[in-house]
Amino acid sequence: MKDSPAKVFKKACKQDLFSLAPMAGLNFEAEYVDSFDVLKVFAAHGVEFLLSSQGKVPLLDCNGKIICLFFSANWCRPCKLFIPHLVDLYETLRKRGVNIEIIFVSFDRDEDGFKEHVESMPWLAVPFDVNLHRKLIDRYRIDRIPSFIPLCSDALTVDEKVIEWIEDYGADAFPFTKKRHEELKDLDRRKREEVDLQELLTREGRDFLIAGDDRKVVVSELAGKTVGLFFGAYWSPPCRAFTVQLTDVYNNLNDTKGRCFEIVFVSTDKDLKEFNVSRTSTPWLAIPYEDRTRHDLCRIFDIKKIPALVIIGPDGKVVSLNGKFMVSSYGAEAFPFTESRVKDLESALRKEGEALPQQVQDVKHEHVLKLEMAKAYVCDSCKKQGKFWSFFCDVCDYDLHPSCLEKVNKD
Ligand SMILES: [Zn+2]
Ligand SMILES: [Zn+2]
Repeated sequence: MKDSPAKVFKKACKQDLFSLAPMAGLNFEAEYVDSFDVLKVFAAHGVEFLLSSQGKVPLLDCNGKIICLFFSANWCRPCKLFIPHLVDLYETLRKRGVNIEIIFVSFDRDEDGFKEHVESMPWLAVPFDVNLHRKLIDRYRIDRIPSFIPLCSDALTVDEKVIEWIEDYGADAFPFTKKRHEELKDLDRRKREEVDLQELLTREGRDFLIAGDDRKVVVSELAGKTVGLFFGAYWSPPCRAFTVQLTDVYNNLNDTKGRCFEIVFVSTDKDLKEFNVSRTSTPWLAIPYEDRTRHDLCRIFDIKKIPALVIIGPDGKVVSLNGKFMVSSYGAEAFPFTESRVKDLESALRKEGEALPQQVQDVKHEHVLKLEMAKAYVCDSCKKQGKFWSFFCDVCDYDLHPSCLEKVNKD
């Protein structure tokens, strides 16, 4: 395998710094030389111990570990939002047996802020020393926080994105290289193109979804059904409105067509309490809140706004990413939510419109009414809901069902 120019350059630099390293096997060892390098910087500053929330840890304990530097501050909101992702990564990688250590370098304004910040981290910290911090910030050209510098790979050339990758992929982002990122994107693409519900909706140690009444339903029960992945949150009014429409469609389809349609709620609620309100007030299944799968599904299907409804057919193919539009426009009629079904509905609607007059006079209204397409209206004659074609007066904002029309007899 050929190294990128940046990597060749880096290796050359390392050779200079570590002329004592034996030439044979250097290419392999070069991957980890930076970790020794930073330990040397610490040692040169008289640092013998690093700090942890449990107390002091001898610097020597880091020998042989894959070291990542984490630049952060207690006062920084993006840092605080990122730390839970990093804690998850750190704990997961260590469980997987990766010999990784994260060392926090502080941007805190004072030692009190620093101490409080260290308390929130399960990894190590460089003791509070403004001069040493400055030196590390310069050395690794840190111009923003949070910054995460893995000293184990060629990630130095791509470090701007490392924070995002960790947020997106968690521990799977390791070892944070461009190559790894490409692999993960390919994997997402495959998961999107050949949906395997088992792979998509389960997680190590969990093969079930939870129902509103706390029942656990194994994912294999979804086989052969049309499945809608509903991305939503209770805090969002459009999601709450869509939930009402979707509940109608769900109940209607399951009453009339057997249990052919299932919804899996992928929550973006702010907390567990809110999630439980969402979950227990709806008739369908949900991914458990504490589970990373929620986050993975948002990424795999590139969900940018909620509500969103991804429809997966009984054959495991994504039928539509736009189920939200189909459900809110056509309700249960849109089933099985395929493009061809929607085309049929649209053409039937067009024909219906073509059969109606463009303008008309009704005995109940003084003005001429025009044929219009409306997403939803209330008929001013029968007071019932209407959808699509309406005879409309734009002077009075008057709507009339085509079926409620009583034409003025011109004779
Ligand atoms: Zn009416
Ligand atoms: Zn009018």
